[in-house]
Amino acid sequence: MGSAFNALHKFVFQAKNGAYSVITSKDEAKKGQITLTGYETKLVEDYFGKEKIHKGSAKSDPAKSTKAFFIYNKKSEGQLKLTYPKPNKEELRLYMNAHQGFRPEAGDIWFVYKPEDQHKPLVVGSMKPGEWESLGSKDEGDEEYQGIINSPPAAAPPKTKTTTGYERKREIALGKMKQASYRCQADDTHITFISPVTGNNFVEPHHLIPMKAQSDFTNSLDVKENIVVLCPNCHRKIHLAGHSEKEEMLNYFYQDLSAGLQKQGLEITFDGLKTYYNLLKT
Ligand SMILES: [Zn+2]
Ligand SMILES: [Zn+2]
Repeated sequence: MGSAFNALHKFVFQAKNGAYSVITSKDEAKKGQITLTGYETKLVEDYFGKEKIHKGSAKSDPAKSTKAFFIYNKKSEGQLKLTYPKPNKEELRLYMNAHQGFRPEAGDIWFVYKPEDQHKPLVVGSMKPGEWESLGSKDEGDEEYQGIINSPPAAAPPKTKTTTGYERKREIALGKMKQASYRCQADDTHITFISPVTGNNFVEPHHLIPMKAQSDFTNSLDVKENIVVLCPNCHRKIHLAGHSEKEEMLNYFYQDLSAGLQKQGLEITFDGLKTYYNLLKT
C-alpha cells in the first residue's frame, strides 16, 4: 500500500509531496508493472489529470499512454507508459522500462514525488531498501563543519560566502563547547584526547534539529540552544545507531534542550524531531 512521504522524505528530496511502496515480486517485478495504490494514485492523477490518462491497453493509444517523468535513477527525463488498463476499473498502472532508467527489482522501494520547484516534472525512482532506510542518517556538510571547528582558525578556508556562514557557526559551536566544559553531554566521563585547538578534551558539536531542516523553520537552527556537545563516539551514535538506541539518546537531549529551543522560537514536538532522524514510520 502506498504511503505518503513524511517530513524527512520531503526535505531529503525537496519534495512538495510524494508517496512510496515496496515492489512486490509476483506481479510488479516479474511483469514489470506497478499498480498504484493509496496516495500514489492521487498524486499521479492530480499531476496529469484523470482525463488525460489513457483508458485501455497502452498499445491501443501509445501516444496518450506515454507520459514524461523525471527519472531519479538516471537523473534525466524519461518516458514511461501509464494507463488505466481495464476500461471499467479505476486501477492505475505504471510500466517499468529499463531503457528509460526505471526498472526496480522485487523488494526495492519505488517512489513518486512532486518537487517543491513548481517548474519541475513529477519524479519517479527506486532505491534498495537499505538505502531508503538510511535516508537522512547523515547530515550533509557535517564532515566539513567538524573539520572547520576543530582546526586552528588559520587553517580555515579563505573568506567566501560559505565561509562567512561557517565562521559564525564556528564561534557559536566553540562557545557551546566551552559552556559544556568540553565534556560529552551524553556522558561526561567520556574522555577522548586533548584538542590542540582548544587545549581541552576533544568534542564535537551536533545540531539536535539538523541544519538540513532549516527550510522548515523561520528562526536559525544554528544557535547554542540547538547544539549538543558530544564525544566522537556518541556523535556517530546519534547519527548511525539503531532505532531504540538512537531514540533513547534523542529523547534525553530533547528533554534537556526543548525549553531552550522554545526560547529561540524553535517549536518542535518529539515526533517532529524523530522524523528528521528517520525514526517515525508513516
Ligand atoms: Zn552531527
Ligand atoms: Zn560520549
